[in-house]
Amino acid sequence: MPSAARTLVLIGGGHAHVAVIRGFATNPLPCVELTVIGRDAETPYSGMLPGLIAGHYTHAEAHIDVAALCRFAGARFIHDEATGLDLACQRVLCRAGPPVPYDCLSIDIGASPSPRASGIGVKPIAPFLAHWEALCARTLATPERLHIGVVGAGAGGVELVLALQVRLEGLLRAAGRPDDAPRFSLFGQAATILPGFAEPARRRLERILHRRGIGVFTGQVIGTTADGARFDLDDVIWATGGVPAPWLARSGLAQTGLALDPKGFIAVHDTLQSTSHPTVFAAGDIASVIGRKLPKSGVYAVRQGKPLAANLRRALSGQALVPFRPQRHALALIGTGDCRAIAVKGGWSAEGRWVWLWKDWVDRRFMGRYTNLADHARADHQR
Ligand SMILES: Cc1cc2nc3c(=O)[nH]c(=O)nc-3n(C[C@H](O)[C@H](O)[C@H](O)COP(=O)(O)OP(=O)(O)OC[C@H]3O[C@@H](n4cnc5c(N)ncnc54)[C@H](O)[C@@H]3O)c2cc1C
Repeated sequence: MPSAARTLVLIGGGHAHVAVIRGFATNPLPCVELTVIGRDAETPYSGMLPGLIAGHYTHAEAHIDVAALCRFAGARFIHDEATGLDLACQRVLCRAGPPVPYDCLSIDIGASPSPRASGIGVKPIAPFLAHWEALCARTLATPERLHIGVVGAGAGGVELVLALQVRLEGLLRAAGRPDDAPRFSLFGQAATILPGFAEPARRRLERILHRRGIGVFTGQVIGTTADGARFDLDDVIWATGGVPAPWLARSGLAQTGLALDPKGFIAVHDTLQSTSHPTVFAAGDIASVIGRKLPKSGVYAVRQGKPLAANLRRALSGQALVPFRPQRHALALIGTGDCRAIAVKGGWSAEGRWVWLWKDWVDRRFMGRYTNLADHARADHQR
């Protein structure tokens, strides 16, 4: 007699989950129904985000169409936002629709923007892109030079400020007003930019920021509207590391027993399985692998996709899970907005146009894995 179908529910179409969905498209698991709950139907690919802002990529080139990917995988896509977990009854609570029951659950929802008094965060991306278009229009319409602040001097913030500058300078040059290009300032809480990166890479980027006239203010805790006024900023963009979604704390240990790390991220073993709930998995920025201090970056979220997909399959078929062993030093390719980039791995670094071509190739190859499948899904849907 065939066994009853089991339901695998994924919350969020983040960088690790797209690999899981793709795996179902290419290699379906019999008797398993896949449901994806996504707040956004498209996921911005982090590696191409600064390139999208600088104008090197179109919206479609830099986004994965998760809804189309789901159609291709024969999965149900629920366009809704998870707002809680009922772990005792194995159900996901949603903002708009009814609770979604699961046999096995995986969470890859990234981090939420840190609370702030003013300005806009880079994520969620949709409101940021609308803000960015408005800022481009404002820059062209304003006769004076604007002063734009970027808060967060990690790799994301550094790439962002360089990308913003390239795009706005290009717009003003095209308008015949090259001397009105905005001023940029970058603010970081740590003593240096790029904390966690080796000295030579940091120095390369410091030199570039200096050469491009971007003010760097490290050791600054920016958090109130008064800070914006103190630095005379016309606009503030936040690229700081995020915090866990507040609803997780409501599903957390005190409430229903989901183990979280001290900062509130989901505590998982190196198999990406929750340390408290064997039927719950987590990956990407929202997961905290106990005993390993992994950076919260798209690179690691992408790397977790394959082992997560394999372990979800193993969990659903009652097999033993396999640990995820991340590289100690991942390669970081940091674009500088001007079709050049810096490559960093441990203490080694290099820069130039060839690094940008390399990064562009890596990023387009990654996206090709998803866009080509999604194209097939769209064609199937229209037939
Ligand atoms: C400007 C900038 C540049 C960056 N550049 C790089 C880079 O070059 N390389 C790099 O490695 N990292 C980079 N990062 C970091 C990178 O963006 C993140 O680490 C990465 O996106 C994390 O991936 P994730 O899968 O955890 O989550 P995300 O990519 O954030 O995906 C989460 C998904 O979950 C969905 N979601 C969220 N909440 C819910 C909910 N409650 N219910 C349902 N769905 C939900 C969202 O819609 C989204 O689709 C950059 C960050 C910034 C800000």
